[in-house]
Amino acid sequence: MLKKVDPTELNRLLEQNPKVLITMHKGPDGDAIGSSLGFYHFLKQKGVEASLVSPDSFPKFLKWLPACDQIIDCEHHPHRAEKAIKDCDIIFCLDFNHPSRLGSFQDLVQGSDKPKYVIDHHQDPDDFADHYYVDSDASSTAEMIYRLAAEMQETDLIAADAAICLYTGLVTDTGSFRFSSVTPQVMQIAANLMSTGMDHVKVYNEIYDNSSLDRLKLRGYALSEKTVVIGDTGGAYISLSEEELERFNYRSGDTEGLVNYALSIEGVHVAGFFYERDGYIKISLRSKGKVEVNKISSALFQGGGHKMAAGGRSDLSLADTVAKFEAVAKAGFKPENIEV
Ligand code: 5GP
Ligand code: MN
Repeated sequence: MLKKVDPTELNRLLEQNPKVLITMHKGPDGDAIGSSLGFYHFLKQKGVEASLVSPDSFPKFLKWLPACDQIIDCEHHPHRAEKAIKDCDIIFCLDFNHPSRLGSFQDLVQGSDKPKYVIDHHQDPDDFADHYYVDSDASSTAEMIYRLAAEMQETDLIAADAAICLYTGLVTDTGSFRFSSVTPQVMQIAANLMSTGMDHVKVYNEIYDNSSLDRLKLRGYALSEKTVVIGDTGGAYISLSEEELERFNYRSGDTEGLVNYALSIEGVHVAGFFYERDGYIKISLRSKGKVEVNKISSALFQGGGHKMAAGGRSDLSLADTVAKFEAVAKAGFKPENIEV
């Protein structure tokens, strides 16, 4: 049994002014960065100093969030990340629940004897930390941070800076409040965040109306040339080779959300996106509900995730990886029915 966070106990611990380190999963998205920075600003209001470490770099569409320049990129600044972990008293792991998701930061975190707290919304957490504040039905880790602050009776410490970061996490992990994970409570949290006076229009503009021309052209190319519907299986996918990405001067985050276009096709209920990166294939899977794609990614693609949004990787070629996805589509999306 994983040990649950006791909010009162945590509050007492934080009042002793420990040095906190906040970290997140590699390839951090809007929720990983947003919840981490939101928690950072919340702690700051409490008078608690925190450092932030990301396993690698994060996309440009998030590089405007308040205090994002405080985030240490472990891949490019390993010594700074090592110093941060040596200097800290507690480690918070946000938006992931398997240590392998820490990438370049994994050994340092697992090698540290400091108490570890996981705050997250993914399924089936690994037993690698001391305390867990998790709910796999939650829309986002940003929601979990707000709920934790509420349980600590300290939502009044969530001012505009924390609010805009948490709101970014909510927006990006809920497809702008349209996924089934959105509950009245999520909308209430969004309303409370908005009430701090944060600029919610800025969030949308920075994330969705700030594309480079190359990024837009890459999308156009992917949609017109690289979208494949797999017969009448209900599956579709987009794949991009390294050469194709280079042609459009690929930057991290440029393919974010592409998989949703494949899912948006009439009659399609499972979509995949495959791209070549650093010698392996990175995979995103999405479902409209009939199929639990985390089962497919854990059975076939060394990954995991949520029922409707999952991901993983493959060490096969791009063509062979796509062939595996086509095979599972033809097998009714039942991984047990194909040979791998
Ligand atoms: P995305 O497709 O946006 O990269 O990821 C969607 C979800 O899939 C993430 O929130 C995460 O839960 C999960 N996911 C993505 N990549 C991996 C991976 O390599 N391993 C695991 N376990 N989960 C992943
Ligand atoms: Mn998340």
